[in-house]
Amino acid sequence: MTDLRNVLDRAADGGRITPDEALELYAQAPLHALGRAADAARRRRFGDTAGIATYLIDRNINYTNVCVTACKFCAFYRAPNHEEGWVRDLGDILRRCGEAVELGATQIMLQGGHHPDFGVEYYEEVFAAIKQAYPQLVLHSLGASEVHHMSRVSGVSVAEAISRIHAAGLDSFAGAGAEILVGRARTAIAPLKESGERWLEIMETAHGLGVESTATFMMGTGETNAERIEHLRMIRDVQDRTGGFRAFIPWTYQPENNHLKGRTQASILEYLRLVATARLFFDNITHIQGSWLTVGKEVGQLTLHYGADDLGSVMLEENVVSSAGAKHRSNRQELIRLIRTAGRIPAQRDTLYRHIKVHWTAADDPTDDRVVSHFSSTAVQGGTAHPELKLIDVR
Ligand code: SF4
Repeated sequence: MTDLRNVLDRAADGGRITPDEALELYAQAPLHALGRAADAARRRRFGDTAGIATYLIDRNINYTNVCVTACKFCAFYRAPNHEEGWVRDLGDILRRCGEAVELGATQIMLQGGHHPDFGVEYYEEVFAAIKQAYPQLVLHSLGASEVHHMSRVSGVSVAEAISRIHAAGLDSFAGAGAEILVGRARTAIAPLKESGERWLEIMETAHGLGVESTATFMMGTGETNAERIEHLRMIRDVQDRTGGFRAFIPWTYQPENNHLKGRTQASILEYLRLVATARLFFDNITHIQGSWLTVGKEVGQLTLHYGADDLGSVMLEENVVSSAGAKHRSNRQELIRLIRTAGRIPAQRDTLYRHIKVHWTAADDPTDDRVVSHFSSTAVQGGTAHPELKLIDVR
């Protein structure tokens, strides 16, 4: 324990720990000591604003569920020509953006399958149309996997694909598609997806072109502890070179309706240990997000004591993870209450993590009770399958 204590103290003080040390902490450090050190590292990093924890209002818009990549953990996609495949037309996407603006969203996360016909041109058209109609919306969308796919469909380089969609309106990349970056574990769950090295290479290219991103980790698909830490190491190495990852967002694999059939899953304690270890390992990434959607609201609260500084989005719409069984629902008032009762001051943030509104006291809390998660979602049972999308009054 003396050695572990020294490593915990060094990391809590902002010192760098090695991957081997991170693995030791993750696997062996007493839970509360690990959490305390991660919380100390968080407080040290945020200084005067360490009392604040943030949330965001955004909407995930899925433009198609048609996908040629057939990941084994995915419950969302349908193969080309499948009778349940769909593509949202541009008018539908714009209507969803308009509803999001009406509800106070600041960000849109476009996310979809690898449609065999969707090259760079498709994304240029969509991004340009959204920016023209709603210039106030930040397009934090897609990821390295979509770039890999679209560049191949269009026969252009990754750099050209990124530059063109950036010019059309994409502001930053969401980190989806990272899943687990380590070869063996990635191939086991997504054999047709680009390699983890390729995913990182594309992100590094994007960062070099001025397009920042977040990085994610879907844990719980049968990877070993060593592979979990190796995933973090691969991201940290790129971050040392680019500084382009704004946040690290771990979440847990959801077990329903997919080929992995829930045979493996990460426990809540594994998740909390990972969040804490990530805070201690990533001396070069500012923000760590807790995923209330996949691990539940109370665990989301707990992550704020294990190194997380952000609870992510209210998520006005979410279909991909919800299709695989993520049943948690929330709303703006509840997220604010969760943050406040976790002992933090809630603040709405933007995509760049700037505070838009700090809710210093309950008297500052917003009152718009329409800002709920999944207010529209094809993934909600008995809900709003396209095209009978539930509508709010946007006049
Ligand atoms: S996770 Fe993405 S790439 Fe994989 S099958 Fe699902 S939609 Fe396709």
